[in-house]
Amino acid sequence: MGNISYAAVCGIYCGDCEYLNRQCKGCEYQAGKPFWTQQTPSKICPLHDCCRNSKRLEHCGLCEDFPCKTFRELRDPSMSDEEFEKSLSQRKDELRRRMELGTEQWLSERTSS
Ligand code: SF4
Ligand code: SF4
Repeated sequence: MGNISYAAVCGIYCGDCEYLNRQCKGCEYQAGKPFWTQQTPSKICPLHDCCRNSKRLEHCGLCEDFPCKTFRELRDPSMSDEEFEKSLSQRKDELRRRMELGTEQWLSERTSS
């Protein structure tokens, strides 16, 4: 079984992130407040906040507005247009797979891959 702390609402699998176990223990573990959010006015990721606290969904793949404008607003400025579109497409694929399998199975699959 995978670690539920690593299943971010936005389609990222935290096990792939270079900051895991350095500055972060997983997006779910941090309740959507990983280190970078401490430098923002809201102190919580807008995607996590919207998904969990406003829409009350398990993840953005279950939202009819996905991918909403917040995904574009949160774009990493160091990414080229091509890199950003690729990352968005990867998140879409992850969330589609997560919907098909359910979160536990998706995590198991990602842990073993
Ligand atoms: S964008 Fe937000 S929800 Fe996605 S991994 Fe980062 S902090 Fe978590
Ligand atoms: S509007 Fe939907 S896709 Fe956008 S952050 Fe909220 S839950 Fe996620």
